[in-house]
Amino acid sequence: MRYKRILLKLSGEALMGQQQYGIDSARLQQYAEEIKRVKDMGVEIAIVIGGGNIYRGVQAEKSGIDRVQGDYMGMLATVINAMALQSILEKNNMYTRLMSGFDIEKVCEPFIRRRAIRHLEKGRVVIFGAGIGSPYFTTDSTASLRAIEIEADVVLKGTRVDGVYTADPEKDPTAEKYHNISFKEVIQKGLNVMDTTAFTLCQENNLPIRVFDMNVPGNLYNLIAGEEVGTLIE
Ligand code: UDP
Repeated sequence: MRYKRILLKLSGEALMGQQQYGIDSARLQQYAEEIKRVKDMGVEIAIVIGGGNIYRGVQAEKSGIDRVQGDYMGMLATVINAMALQSILEKNNMYTRLMSGFDIEKVCEPFIRRRAIRHLEKGRVVIFGAGIGSPYFTTDSTASLRAIEIEADVVLKGTRVDGVYTADPEKDPTAEKYHNISFKEVIQKGLNVMDTTAFTLCQENNLPIRVFDMNVPGNLYNLIAGEEVGTLIE
């Protein structure tokens, strides 16, 4: 087992599956099965989930809504996704806790670092909703910050691309994939992995990031079992 404690970042957009908006239940079930497989290996799992399938703060200004208000709407969107994920994980026989970056005490516990670590040690899957709880951040930054706080071994960024490429593989057919790359090289080459805040947090705290395709069945399991899946940045 390559990692003992992981922080899995799932984008909100990934939850749409084939839909244009919202949450695709088949996709959610697929993710729950992938997560259960690694849970059964004894891996401690924390998850940060995005909200881009429902709302992003940057959209707000275009529709005349204040940016900060929009960011809070985005954070609420992540709570909706987190609640859906929590429910499906439990249906798949996992114990879970949902912790929030701001107070929503009817449905989430507040994020308390020591308590989060205790949940992980007890084998609960911990989901972090509502991002960091502050506007002008993203859930990628949340993933980096929470991973450092809970002393995770790695941030696993599950995307729909199977790693970091020399160029955008969806636009440039000659793009080549990196298996390993340093933080420095990513910056020098101007590659797009995460937003700068999220990326720098990992770099400064020596926290490796692995970018991989979460939609390929078995990828999460295989990479934890030691196979070369995705791109490792360290
Ligand atoms: N957001 C925020 N602070 C945070 C995390 C998220 O303001 O700490 C807001 C921000 O508007 C963001 C939205 O919530 O656009 C949804 O998160 P994100 O865009 O990271 O979701 P993803 O792209 O992963 O689906």
